[in-house]
Amino acid sequence: MIMVSACLAGLNCRYDGGNNGLEEIEKLVKEGKAVLVCPEQLGGMPTPRIPCEIVHGDGAEVLERKGKVINRNGEDMTIYFIKGAEETLKIAKLYGIRTAILKARSPSCGKKCIYDGTFSKKLKKGEGVTAALLKKHGILLLDEEDFREYME
Ligand code: SF4
Repeated sequence: MIMVSACLAGLNCRYDGGNNGLEEIEKLVKEGKAVLVCPEQLGGMPTPRIPCEIVHGDGAEVLERKGKVINRNGEDMTIYFIKGAEETLKIAKLYGIRTAILKARSPSCGKKCIYDGTFSKKLKKGEGVTAALLKKHGILLLDEEDFREYME
């Protein structure tokens, strides 16, 4: 069983109420090979929601309470992101997950780079909060841009 970001399977859980559905990911779910998670919903945030970005580092710093996550209005949303990451990890443990395919660039799910906290579409290197926690627990992180190399 692998874990996938729910928006990649077509669930309308993205901040703007949309999704990033991909046929190949939906197929994995239909075949019973993948479990869906949306860390931001699991953390208690509504959909749609005000977009958020990480300031001061990346998800690893947020988990260490050195960085924080703010929304576009400047409100501190860090606790929701940490709760979402912890709930996602619980699901990963329940299913014995070793691999996750996560949405690139998300402040929760991004595994290589994330938006830089200025809400100007600029990217910085680093992981989202959930990606950082899953990685810390030995889960292989893939995203919608590279999973095909590993799944063949
Ligand atoms: Fe939810 Fe992650 Fe998709 Fe954002 S990127 S909508 S947190 S599953």
